[in-house]
Amino acid sequence: MPEAETQGAKPSEIAANEGDFTVTQKEDGDFEPIKGTELLAVCCEFKYKGQRENKFDHEKRLRKQEETGKILKPKLYHNGFYNFQVNEEIEQGEFAGQRKEFRWFVNNLSFGSPSHPTDYKKHLESWRDRPFSDQELKAFHANNVVGVSCFLRFKYEDGKDRPKLAAILPARTHCPNCVQKVSADCDICKGKGKIWVKFEPVDYTPVDERVEEDENPDEVAEGAAEEAPPF
Ligand SMILES: [Zn+2]
Repeated sequence: MPEAETQGAKPSEIAANEGDFTVTQKEDGDFEPIKGTELLAVCCEFKYKGQRENKFDHEKRLRKQEETGKILKPKLYHNGFYNFQVNEEIEQGEFAGQRKEFRWFVNNLSFGSPSHPTDYKKHLESWRDRPFSDQELKAFHANNVVGVSCFLRFKYEDGKDRPKLAAILPARTHCPNCVQKVSADCDICKGKGKIWVKFEPVDYTPVDERVEEDENPDEVAEGAAEEAPPF
């Protein structure tokens, strides 16, 4: 488990986390922001990024250290991000026609601690449409939602082209037949008025397997040979 590897990290090695909800399409592509406000999406990957101090705690700790002259131990949380494919396509450039992606950074992964309410938990509960019991939360692993469809609701702040995540909603939509009047005769939803939507990933490449297109391996090898020590 990556948990063990990061457990012994020294406070000096742990940077404050500047992460927030941001949008990315392709690692090496031109940025093309998401435009929709509520898009069908599928969670394609969870990537664990180790333990970090969050930005708020970091600033608070620095202030306290300054006041007291003592070195204080940072409060560390597990960090990671989820990558989603959304139902909106890149319009221009070499990735045109491919799905846009949304990267959701989670700064306070509690990995199942019931006593640790976070935005993470709030979004997951909204996604699954019911609260976690303590038992369910303890058994929950971050990977559990990989492959699960949802609607991502975005909020747009003035002057910024990258939306933030407002909510994750269940991939369930009103039945077009009976949205006004729920009917047991409806062939689609059988009177329940809502239907589940399955949104499958298409040509998804895990983040670690993405390579820089413009790097020529031959040139890199030659350069390395030139710089080798002369014995
Ligand atoms: Zn219906």
